[in-house]
Amino acid sequence: MPPDHEALAAWLQHHEECCPVCAYQLRGLTGLSCPECGASLTLGVIAPEVTHGGWILAMVAYALGLGFDGVVALITLVGLVASRPGFAGPWVLNGSFMMAAAILAALLVRTARRRAHWLRRPRRQQWTRGAVVFIAVGAAHLLYAGALLAWGNSW
Ligand SMILES: [Zn+2]
Repeated sequence: MPPDHEALAAWLQHHEECCPVCAYQLRGLTGLSCPECGASLTLGVIAPEVTHGGWILAMVAYALGLGFDGVVALITLVGLVASRPGFAGPWVLNGSFMMAAAILAALLVRTARRRAHWLRRPRRQQWTRGAVVFIAVGAAHLLYAGALLAWGNSW
């Protein structure tokens, strides 16, 4: 098996490839770095269907929801423990944020663990799934905010 620089040089003798950093045309290159930007180069194996974008979009959606719901749950819990209201409404409200945060944390962990399963799907499906998760998490929060406003206005 040829060393890395020989395999890279042999590949670049016959293929039009651009530097992944600066897009400089590398055909004929014999070294292990881009002559234009200096980025180190290696010949590698890729899976063309893999795009992390959809998976990251889903992870960001779950993380944003978890961050928001978790902070609201903790802040309201501190307020409830300090003031100890005598009626159930505020506790139920706090519990709903706690439950939402727990569900989003579970979905975040599940999606992180199933990254390989996610990346095996066709590229378009990965993006569609990521967009569906992002929109669903956002829509669920908007619907809940609307329900809370309606509930608050009914007092
Ligand atoms: Zn370059």
